[in-house]
Amino acid sequence: MTFKDLEIIPSILSALAAEGYERPTPIQQKSIPIILDRQDLLACAQTGTGKTAAFAVPLLQLMAAEPVRKMQDIEALILAPTRELALQIDESFHSYSRNIAVRHAVIFGGVSQNKQLNDLKARPAILVATPGRLLDLIGQGLLDISKIRYLVLDEADRMLDMGFVHDVKRIVRLIPKKRQTLLFSATMPPSIMQLAASLLFQPKKVQV
Ligand code: AMP
Repeated sequence: MTFKDLEIIPSILSALAAEGYERPTPIQQKSIPIILDRQDLLACAQTGTGKTAAFAVPLLQLMAAEPVRKMQDIEALILAPTRELALQIDESFHSYSRNIAVRHAVIFGGVSQNKQLNDLKARPAILVATPGRLLDLIGQGLLDISKIRYLVLDEADRMLDMGFVHDVKRIVRLIPKKRQTLLFSATMPPSIMQLAASLLFQPKKVQV
């Protein structure tokens, strides 16, 4: 199995080759076809399995294929529990999108918002965010997530452990119901299954 077998487009294939990726990992093999098929996904995967590329690569491909891009709305929102994870995800989008015209940005708390606001002025299509800073900027009227069509929750179990459940629910109320939602979690306790049931529509389930 190769990334080409998964029908990844040449501009992304070359970026993956430049990263030194030779073969998709098991979570990538299972998740990429589901995401490209525009279905919701509930994925059980630990850090280190290649879970970031499992959502970032197909999302970039779906977004690169849009025939008419307005290039001004945030269309994909990736929620992560920590600044470190948000930065890692943003770096992954940077690597995989080097040959396509889909912009991305990252926002997180604990630092001045000025640079992040400047990055938002460049009109990213993909926004990686921690929940608190996202709600903060929305509350200030500086950010609009009403056009989101793709929502990813990464490390959802950590997000709940850190007490972000109400923030996540508030954020979800601000984005369209008609969207594709992907939830990644290292563990699947009842609290995650409940969250998944409220956020995902007939999700495909994968586990590695
Ligand atoms: P993650 O689980 O997303 O944190 O990824 C763990 C590490 O695996 C990261 O350093 C990725 O760059 C790397 N990685 C992801 N997918 C592949 C792949 N298909 N081949 C080789 N390395 C990969």
